[in-house]
Amino acid sequence: MSIKVENLTKLYGTQKALNNISFDVKKPEIVGFLGPNGAGKSTMMKILTTFIEATDGKALVNSFDVDSQKQDVQKSVGYLPEHNPLYLDQYVREYLAFNAQVYGVSKHRIQEVIELTGLTPEAHKKIGQLSKGYRQRVGLANALLHNPEVLILDEPTTGLDPNQLIDIRKLIKDLGQDKTVFLSTHIMQEVEAMCDRVIIINKGEIVANKTLKELRDDKEQVVVVEFDYRVEDAFLLKLPKVKQVTNTYDFVYEITFNTTEDMRSHVFDFAHDNQLKILQLNQKNASLESLFRELTSN
Ligand code: ADP
Ligand code: MG
Repeated sequence: MSIKVENLTKLYGTQKALNNISFDVKKPEIVGFLGPNGAGKSTMMKILTTFIEATDGKALVNSFDVDSQKQDVQKSVGYLPEHNPLYLDQYVREYLAFNAQVYGVSKHRIQEVIELTGLTPEAHKKIGQLSKGYRQRVGLANALLHNPEVLILDEPTTGLDPNQLIDIRKLIKDLGQDKTVFLSTHIMQEVEAMCDRVIIINKGEIVANKTLKELRDDKEQVVVVEFDYRVEDAFLLKLPKVKQVTNTYDFVYEITFNTTEDMRSHVFDFAHDNQLKILQLNQKNASLESLFRELTSN
């Protein structure tokens, strides 16, 4: 197990930022830690990286205890903080070389992480000259220097433009091939784009912990069909697992099913049996966004 959290609570004064939370992250797995602002994501990540201590409960990273084995934990994790403090006057290589020395990492690793994070074309520049996307790469390169088992990335894509977003997502996905990645975000689509599993946190409590596949399986499915003729709603309601039928316009119907099994073939058979022609037949995926909203709206 790469990360194991058991009954963890964190109080800031009297405010409970994390309330008795438990979860595991296996290796290799990309897990999205999703929640609205103020949910407790950064607090959890700071505890896992030994920057702050929990008030109660237990957390293990790479089987090391964050309280009693801090150094082993630090060797096991690469951390990209939410507001990554970079020295804008330093050159990329200079910055990485400084940290390599701090970590006691050999110099040839600097070139490796530069290549790994796609920094090569910008590696000769000062950090202050880089775009936000490339600065995030510097942060990632830094987190990778000591070749940690686990990467903890706090909102790694916040503030990036759409192109940078795609590049960084791809990079994180690639890194997740052989490392455990635990990344926070407040954007549902982000999880869909990168993660194997999502842990949703709201007001310091975990409200969902599911693989993306399970999440999709939980959902309803909407099939949009256009016939060449009008059909009574009541007729369509006889389809298996149907929940709702809406005639959106002319001969176009949106049929909601209580399943994610592809129901288009049933609609096709229905049309055939009733001598109707199908002019279009599409599956509309109910967005995971709605689940997120549902779980975090109070
Ligand atoms: P997130 O990263 O999900 O936005 P945080 O973990 O930063 O959430 O914050 C969780 C809650 O704890 C928020 O209500 C925040 O205001 C509070 N909080 C965070 N850090 C501190 C701190 N150092 N002192 C007091 N309260 C804090
Ligand atoms: Mg945060």
